[in-house]
Amino acid sequence: MSITDNINKIKAGLPDEVLLVAVSKTKPNEDIMQAYNGGHKIFGENKVQDLVKKYESLPKDIEWHFIGHLQSNKVKYIVPFVSLIHAVDSFKLLKTIDKEANKIDIRVSCLLQMHIAEEETKFGMSFEEITDILNSVDFKQLKHIKIAGLMGMATNTKDTARVHKEFAYLKSCFNSLKNDFYNNNNSFKYMSMGMSSDYKIAVDEGSNMVRIGSLIFGART
Ligand SMILES: *Cc1c(COP(=O)(O)O)cnc(C)c1O
Repeated sequence: MSITDNINKIKAGLPDEVLLVAVSKTKPNEDIMQAYNGGHKIFGENKVQDLVKKYESLPKDIEWHFIGHLQSNKVKYIVPFVSLIHAVDSFKLLKTIDKEANKIDIRVSCLLQMHIAEEETKFGMSFEEITDILNSVDFKQLKHIKIAGLMGMATNTKDTARVHKEFAYLKSCFNSLKNDFYNNNNSFKYMSMGMSSDYKIAVDEGSNMVRIGSLIFGART
């Protein structure tokens, strides 16, 4: 199976409204170009330096998503071209993104990362932290970011009931925030949840953006 076959097979099993982010981290440009030539344009990277290199050397109509933990001091390198930042895990980071976007007068789409797994994932905020941010006076001053939804990672476990539960919890938080803060605003619309091992469960639970790497490009070494 080629990279494009893998993508087509995954897409064929996804409902129409679910966006596929092909996670190309650690993979060479040739692999990305195979997917690109097959018609896929959305890629995810988790290291700033790798993302910048790939952005510079690959076609400019690629939509780059940053999916990893982002340090505030590196925000400036990706803000000019990134399409979506998936893992905003602190108010400080959100303010930094706003500040850098302000400098070049653009608006950057961000997802707030929620901590839904029991252990492992160190990053992500609680529902309370997120509501505190959205309610704050400071937040209302940020004119150069757009909150496009939530992102979360489930526990890495064979216990599928638990994975279902964690994704369902994220979905319920999404619905509640949508209702309380973005009722008449369609910009809050994405739930980025699901990777190679659990994306089918995530889609069952309402994901509309899956981040898939190894099922497309093969295992990372
Ligand atoms: C690496 C990574 C993925 C993709 O993982 P696979 O198991 O290879 O599909 C998805 N999301 C994040 C945040 C990642 O770091």
